[in-house]
Formats: sequence, structure tokens, C-alpha cells
Amino acid sequence: MRRLRKTKIVATLGPASSTSEIVETLYNAGADVFRLNFSHGEHADHKERYDTIRAVEALQGRPIGILADLQGPKIRVGVFKDGPITLEKGASFQLDLEDVPGDASRVNFPHPQVLSSLEEGSILLLDDGKLKLVVKEISDGKAVCEVLIGGKLSDRKGVNVPNAIINMSPLTDKDRRDLDYALELGVDWIALSFVQRPDDIAEIKKLVAGRAAVMAKIEKPAAVEHLEGIIELADAVMVARGDLGVEIPMQKVPAVQKKIINAAKEAGKPVIVATQMLESMISSPVPTRAEATDVANALYDGADAVMLSAESAAGEYPVEAVTMMSDIAVETEKDPNYSKIMDAKHGELEATTADAISAAAAQVANTIGATAIVTYTTSGSTALRASRERGETPVLALTPALPTARRLALAWGLHCVHTSDAKNFSDMVEKACNTCFKEGFARPGERIVIMAGVPFGTPGSTNILRIAWVGEKPLSGL
Ligand code: PEP
Repeated sequence: MRRLRKTKIVATLGPASSTSEIVETLYNAGADVFRLNFSHGEHADHKERYDTIRAVEALQGRPIGILADLQGPKIRVGVFKDGPITLEKGASFQLDLEDVPGDASRVNFPHPQVLSSLEEGSILLLDDGKLKLVVKEISDGKAVCEVLIGGKLSDRKGVNVPNAIINMSPLTDKDRRDLDYALELGVDWIALSFVQRPDDIAEIKKLVAGRAAVMAKIEKPAAVEHLEGIIELADAVMVARGDLGVEIPMQKVPAVQKKIINAAKEAGKPVIVATQMLESMISSPVPTRAEATDVANALYDGADAVMLSAESAAGEYPVEAVTMMSDIAVETEKDPNYSKIMDAKHGELEATTADAISAAAAQVANTIGATAIVTYTTSGSTALRASRERGETPVLALTPALPTARRLALAWGLHCVHTSDAKNFSDMVEKACNTCFKEGFARPGERIVIMAGVPFGTPGSTNILRIAWVGEKPLSGL
């Protein structure tokens, strides 16, 4: 099935979207990648959803990406002796390691690494940023704070520490168990929360050892500060606006979104914009105008993919949400301004044959009015360079590696096909023409542009560009 848009859609599965009927309907409505959110549910739930997606994939005959999103550390206060307390502005409030229920003057804070990362002046945001404290005094196992913004505080509310680098791994014991499980299932992408520095990505990449691609969720100011280094090591990034909007002032989120997208695009790594994209569709069959505009603006920013969270996982209208997101993407991409912006934004070429051939393919396709570009790819890296071009002509990524086809399902403008490698020149042309015809990208008599590498089947060897006519040779079985 051919999508009529280049931007991809990631849909989170959950209680509202677990049956095979609904997963298939979500796929048909436009979901290209499904997200398993390990913050919720048991391993058995994720396995059931994983198996369901793979069954839909087999039925559709199209590669589908699966993203396992690890929860990461959750920093929380402990419990209160007599129920919720109210903190008044200007009051003193202590966080400490004492495992004793709290009151209006103190609460247990069972995170020694966080306490040791605090210093005088550190800001603590409680309960999704509703309450704000500043550290006044830090001593052995406790932080005495002043309340800057007060309010009600109840048991186990979350704590964010926006302006400190916390000396802890982004992988908790639960994350390590979840990671092993997700890799055993065979997911295509692992998303890592709580990323602060490039070393965090190095740590998970070592554990993943190439069994999946790794996505860095950018949700902390420290990650924004170390953006280039993180992007260099990660295979993709997510603008995780949920936590980002707590950790940095909300009004800075739009500019940071653009900064992350620009940096990822420049590096040629896929970038997803996530969270609250169509939030009102959790309980309404139509989004607000502002939400529709937010989705479109993520496209104008140049995102590879846009993501649904609770809208598709736990909402009342999961199918309508995917359909709406797809419709917005189709309409936005029709806008002549969209192509102009994409054209103006594509990054500087690197001095590699893959970049030279990708850029040439896009230009040749435009000049001769080719209906598709076909790239033969094993690792997926050449296809990602072609995607980075943000050209008008659709790109078909033909790969003998199913994991590559599934991973690339996330990347802008790529229509992935799992097929055997070309054996020789005529096989390369025949396979490319037949695939374009079969997948609805070219009719007999139309021209396509082919990128490949000789010797065939050698990763990193992209070095030829060929123009071909579909129907040049009789269509044979693939
Ligand atoms: C986010 O913070 O935007 C996000 C996608 O992560 P999580 O689902 O863990 O909140």
C-alpha cells in the first residue's frame, strides 16, 4: 500500500488499541510505526501487542516499525502521614533520606544520587511543574528548600530537577529488564528517556549491540545542551515535549523543538515530534484548531514523524486520531510552501559518494520528471541520506534486510520494500522497475531513477545512478 504523504506517523498502542482488528485499522488509517510504552503495562501486554503488529505486517505484506519506549528513572517524593499537604509560598520544606512519612515541613526523598547532584540555588519542580522549590541549604542526606510556587502535594508526586546534571544512569533495573525483553521480542527501535549526555547513548548502544536502533528522547535541558554529541551517537531523536515542557519554561519549547529538528536533519537522523499533538482527541472525535496547526507546524519544521500517545493508546478515538493526523500531513505536504521550505532546509552535502549520488538522484528525478527514486540499501544509511535530501520525488528503499526495512519505516519519504539484493545490472533495473510498478509508484512508460552500489550487496558501496523506463522489460515475478 502506498501512502500519500512523506511524513510518518507513530501510534502508541495501549488498552484502547490492542486487538488485531484495531491495530490493522490503525495501520490502514496511516500508522507507520507502533510504539510500545514500557511506562505502562506488563511484559505479557507488550508481547501480545508485538505479536499482533507482526501478524498485521504479514497480512499487509509491508514492513512495520516497532518502537519500545523505556520508562527511565522516575524521581518522586515519598508519602505523607496525614494525606496531602499544602505548601505556602515562602515556606521552608525539607527533602531527606529518612524513610518516615512526611508532613508540611518535610518529606522522604529516596534518591541519594539526586540529592548529591543538588547545590544551593538548584530548582526542584514538583507534580509536573505545578510547585516550585529552590534549594537553600544542602547537607548530608537532606536539602532544605524555600517554596517559590506553592500548592497541594500528595504521595509519590514526580520531581524534576531542570538545571542540574544528575549523576545517574538513564537505565534503571526495570529499564534493563524491559530492554532485554524488548530485544528478545525483536523490536526495531529502543527509545531512551532521561538522556543527559552522549555517554548515556553510548551506554545503551553497548547493551543493544546493534539488535535495534536507538532513539534519544530529548526531554532535559542538559540533553539540549549536549544535542550535537547525543545526535551523533543516536540513530534518531524524539522531541519529548511532555517532560521537556516541565524541565524548561513552556514558552521555550517551540524554539527548542525547531533547534532539535534542525540539528537532527542536518545530521540525517530521523526526528519525531511527540506529545499532546492531538490531545483533545482522547475524548473528542475532532481536534482543536490549535492542535491541527501544531501537527502541521511540526511538518513545516521538517520532522520525519509525528507521534500519538494517549490519543491512540487510551483514548476514545484512536482511529480518528490517526486518520486526522494523516489527513493533516497529506494536506500540509500539498502546500507549495511546504516543498519550498523542505528544499530550502536540506543540509550541506557531506563529501561522500552516498551524499553525492543522493543529491544527484533528487536533481535528476526533478529534471526528467521521474516518478520515483529507488535506492538499494543494506544498512539503511544510503536511504537515510536520500531521505535527508527532502526531495519531491518519492524514494523506495529496497533492502534484503528486514530489520532495515522496519527501522526505515520511521524516516521521512521512504517507502521500504523487503526484497532480495540485485544480482547484476539488468536484475537491478528489472527489480526496481517491477517494484515501482507493483507498489503504485510508476506506470509503464514512466521513468525512475535508481541508486545502487557495485559490487552489488556490499554495504557502503553506493556509486551508481541509472535512469530506467518502467516497462523497458516485461514485468516478471519478483
Ligand atoms: C514525553 O515526555 O514527551 C514522552 C514522550 O515521554 P513519556 O511518554 O515517558 O512521557
